Amino acid sequence: MTLTNWAGNIAFGAARVHRPSTVDQVRDVVAGAERVRVLGSGHSFNEIADTPADLVSVAGLPPRPRIDAAAGTVTVAGGIRYGELAAFLDAEGFALHNLGSLPHISIAGAVATGTHGSGAALGNLATAVAGIELVTAGGELVRLARGDADFAGAVVSLGALGVVVGVTLDVRPAFTIRQFVFEHLPRTVLDARWEEIATAGYSVSLFTDWSGDTVNQLWLKLADGEEPDGFGATPAVRTMHPIAAMSPESCTEQGGVPGPWHRRLPHFKLEFTPSSGEELQTEFFVARGDAVEAFAAIERLRHLVTPVLQISEIRVVAADELWLSPHHRRDSVALHFTWIRDGARVAPVVAALEDALAHLAPRPHWGKVFHHAPRPERLGDFLALRDRLDPDRKFGNAFVERHLTAE
Ligand SMILES: Cc1cc2nc3c(=O)[nH]c(=O)nc-3n(C[C@H](O)[C@H](O)[C@H](O)COP(=O)(O)OP(=O)(O)OC[C@H]3O[C@@H](n4cnc5c(N)ncnc54)[C@H](O)[C@@H]3O)c2cc1C
Repeated sequence: MTLTNWAGNIAFGAARVHRPSTVDQVRDVVAGAERVRVLGSGHSFNEIADTPADLVSVAGLPPRPRIDAAAGTVTVAGGIRYGELAAFLDAEGFALHNLGSLPHISIAGAVATGTHGSGAALGNLATAVAGIELVTAGGELVRLARGDADFAGAVVSLGALGVVVGVTLDVRPAFTIRQFVFEHLPRTVLDARWEEIATAGYSVSLFTDWSGDTVNQLWLKLADGEEPDGFGATPAVRTMHPIAAMSPESCTEQGGVPGPWHRRLPHFKLEFTPSSGEELQTEFFVARGDAVEAFAAIERLRHLVTPVLQISEIRVVAADELWLSPHHRRDSVALHFTWIRDGARVAPVVAALEDALAHLAPRPHWGKVFHHAPRPERLGDFLALRDRLDPDRKFGNAFVERHLTAE
């Protein structure tokens, strides 16, 4: 059976797929391979994980989560999914600072692309990484910790430095979140009160199809002490899916019912297959302060966007110092598009969006559909690090060569 990504739009071309169950087996596979890539949970929408040679999945490594309460960290195998780690941590009285919309994604894969949730004060999920353990080109096991010279270059790696077999993540005491959904936020209010809305709670998301005078939905995920402000939008009277016409059965509990952080921060429940299944995704990041200009630029392309769009999500992410992070040194607004699964129709719309946003220096989500990525400020340092860890580019592939070139 052909191995594909989650969306089914990429069929992996690997000659061999390895599923080691011990770190020593990972080391043997890497040492013996000429070219190798790592596959996480396969949730990316482009060829980032693909290779014609050897593909390794570390999903079979025993998770072995170990909490170090004094250091405020948990160490776990890289292939474990956020939802599984979150349930373990919560039972032990601990939490992660944030989660993406989906709990089914592997930690190492999410970290490798700078995957994020929402929250003006919250960095992307990779910013919680305090240490990584990776198998490098010769099969060596290398440990890097926050503060080491190479660390900020090695966390968001696009899989180009080695196989992450272990990650250490910052934890905090478990906390409670209340989730509120509002409908029909007046479009003029979004522009006029953008900064207030973006910072209105622990985590804020907006869902829109860019088509009318209102933004379809405003989702507020509030921590203790925060009270909901709908900014003139109407409180939802039932549980909502981001696409209002779809069943909300898969969505985490709303209506302000307090619940554990890991059952409110993701939009979708671990026990359900989320979204509509048939989709592609694109996401661009621009400076949070340029959001209103970006909204207008997207709306000018409504005639192109709407026919291929299922829904858009607007989120915010705090700046970080990770070299290849899309949020490197820039507090960002995330402009996300869930498209219909028709790559040929979506591609020209993505190109038009890249042109329309070009004056705002948009950075793409590494794991989603895009054409052009601007040169990261620290690319030179990253390539020098790769030259040291992987001089023969064993972990390279066409995607990495295309987007991380020296010139
Ligand atoms: C339904 C859905 C919802 C999503 N929601 C969000 C969201 O809320 N926020 C967001 O930012 N993104 C979101 N994404 C995108 C997703 O988080 C990223 O594409 C993420 O990188 C996928 O992780 P993965 O484990 O599936 O990695 P893969 O897609 O399998 O691989 C991605 C990259 O990580 C590398 N990699 C994987 N495992 C390892 C490892 N052990 N060691 C070294 N490198 C490794 C691969 O080589 C590849 O370069 C969503 C995607 C889907 C399908």
